[in-house]
Amino acid sequence: MKLRTITAKDITGKRVLMRVDYNVPLERKNGSVTIVDDRRIQLSLETVKFLLKHGAAVTLISHLGRPKGESDPKLSLKPIAEYIQKKFSIPVKLVEEWDESLPQVTESQSPETVHLLENIRFYPEEKKNDADFAKKLAKPFDIYINDAFSSAHRAHASTVGVTQYLPSFAGFALTKEVDSLSKIVENPVRPLAIVIGGAKISDKVSAAKNLAKIADFVLIGGAVANNFLKAEGIEIHKSFVEEVSGDLAKQGVDYVQFAEKLMEQYKTERILKDGYIPLPKILHPIDVLAAKSLDTRSKKQVSVIDLSHDMADTPNDLDLQYLDIGPKTVRLYSELLKHAKTVFWNGPMGVWENTLFRRGTKNVAKTIAGSGATTVLGGGDTIAAVDHFGLEKKFTYISAAGGASLDFLGGTELPGLIPLQG
Ligand code: ADP
Ligand code: MG
Repeated sequence: MKLRTITAKDITGKRVLMRVDYNVPLERKNGSVTIVDDRRIQLSLETVKFLLKHGAAVTLISHLGRPKGESDPKLSLKPIAEYIQKKFSIPVKLVEEWDESLPQVTESQSPETVHLLENIRFYPEEKKNDADFAKKLAKPFDIYINDAFSSAHRAHASTVGVTQYLPSFAGFALTKEVDSLSKIVENPVRPLAIVIGGAKISDKVSAAKNLAKIADFVLIGGAVANNFLKAEGIEIHKSFVEEVSGDLAKQGVDYVQFAEKLMEQYKTERILKDGYIPLPKILHPIDVLAAKSLDTRSKKQVSVIDLSHDMADTPNDLDLQYLDIGPKTVRLYSELLKHAKTVFWNGPMGVWENTLFRRGTKNVAKTIAGSGATTVLGGGDTIAAVDHFGLEKKFTYISAAGGASLDFLGGTELPGLIPLQG
């Protein structure tokens, strides 16, 4: 996908409206607010600094949390404006009330000071992508830049509406995200390995489906694997499988069935293009670590279960949960990953938060990090695990964009990207 990126000549001396995603995790204690993870703020700084360097007057728009279309002091962007000013020495002024006054506010802006408009979701028109609202928002500006890939899957006034009224460009962070994800879905260097784990299969089905089509092999772990094991008729006892509820349940969505279909669809395809490894391209664990609780503290209470053997159900097994991939699976997955030239990984292989169930995730992380392949990583918990192992610098690209990146990899056209193409 080719995006229109900014050059100095597009922005010098211009009034620029830029969409960022400062929806960052906050922690409140004794009336003060701290930013738990500033990755998304850091991501925007390259473009912000470029704009300032070239004499553009910058106004930033972001949402924070889920206000109900009205002002909510708990979801103010004030702590974020203060944080940027303090940590990065960029003067930021929070524009709390703007509505009709935005042209005057922008007119009187000093080019050294970045304006940050108060939480755009305080206005109900934002999520409705209201045309008048978008027009009013666009009015005082010369150009629009979107640098918020993580919001590009939403067709809102600040991601799509404004592009009707202003020449629109992609910021540097958004461009990098699109380029990195495109390396997976457009002509990947092969073999392409996809590693999927974690607990929330609901988030990952469309990406898994699309990526399975493109991939040379798909390795499944974490609680997501329980759906695949169940689909194979393997007993999973009390292991976690995500419940389907609400509208999805009414539509008859069933993730075990999803797993079954996926394996069925590719059962004749063998791993690697020349087919010299006689394994189906979608693999689930062949052994697991099991215990009766996520909080098990004693190694003695952890058992290794070989899933390739018929398991005799003893009353003791009935309460077991599968909490990590087992040692044979670690070996198999690591061996295969060493052959990969491109890897996408989303979702821990087990409950890595507990040291007893960390080995699968840690080994897979280390193997991918050391593979020499182009490696792209996504998912909040996967990023937390890799950070914890100190391996974050060893990956080619870490995507903190959550739903938007999974939608992109699932082959969905993101509404926020359409106006930026060219
Ligand atoms: P991500 O945020 O990386 O997309 P998810 O949110 O889907 O990942 O899942 C992460 C969580 O999955 C982790 O907190 C981990 O404890 C949990 N998990 C992984 N494997 C298992 C398992 N076998 N049983 C229960 N929970 C698991
Ligand atoms: Mg998660």
